[in-house]
Amino acid sequence: MTATNTTPTKQAYDELQWAYDTFNQKLFGGQLPYCLITLQREKNTCGYFSAKRFANQSGVVTDEIAINPSYFAVSPLIEIMQTLVHEMVHLWQFHFGKPGRGRYHNKEWADQMERIGLMPSSTGQPGGAKTGDSMADYAIEGGLFLKVCAGLLDEHFKLSWYDRFPPTLAVMSGQSSFANQLVGLPNAATMIISDNSNSMVETKPQPIEASSVPSAENKQTRVKYTCDCDINIWAKPNIQVRCCECDGMFEAV
Ligand SMILES: [Zn+2]
Ligand SMILES: [Zn+2]
Repeated sequence: MTATNTTPTKQAYDELQWAYDTFNQKLFGGQLPYCLITLQREKNTCGYFSAKRFANQSGVVTDEIAINPSYFAVSPLIEIMQTLVHEMVHLWQFHFGKPGRGRYHNKEWADQMERIGLMPSSTGQPGGAKTGDSMADYAIEGGLFLKVCAGLLDEHFKLSWYDRFPPTLAVMSGQSSFANQLVGLPNAATMIISDNSNSMVETKPQPIEASSVPSAENKQTRVKYTCDCDINIWAKPNIQVRCCECDGMFEAV
């Protein structure tokens, strides 16, 4: 079945803009300027921020926040929102703070992340370093970020369109994400974050582990797939993924 009565481009970008506006209001007091959100499949990167990346003929420039749709089918929605907000903190720092050199995520960035409810961590897990070149993060239980996400989910926020052909790394990082261990958020689908550029800062997918167990909430929104060598993954319906162990396709069970 192909789309007839929907406009996928408008729908996909309206949803991302809705999320951006909501986080801007609730986490940054509405002070962030607009930016141009793009969908990019940059390898091993969940997202990135690139300052003043676009210009128009009137001489106006705007920043880019790129989000990688490879993760949409295989990571919890919370993690995709984490990626967006992680990049929004880079945008905030570019306009209102002092970004670190190159890809360095400095203490000012880390403090702002923590204030809005995301704990910076070099490993993506509790106990990692809070600053560094390659940084991930996890949601702080009871923090502002999770409260705003819960509000969005109450308003039936979703990312309607997802990439059906996610690369293996995206699949595996989605399965092992820390967000999969969070409980108490209804309908939390899946997602991840990262960033890089000239003035780009990047967030890497987290280390992978094939056999982690997703939470009950994810089982409701995702389908279980199995391959010939009995590795299980959970993802949205109708995706096409090959197992790198047995080289067979994952089949929904
Ligand atoms: Zn970053
Ligand atoms: Zn296999």
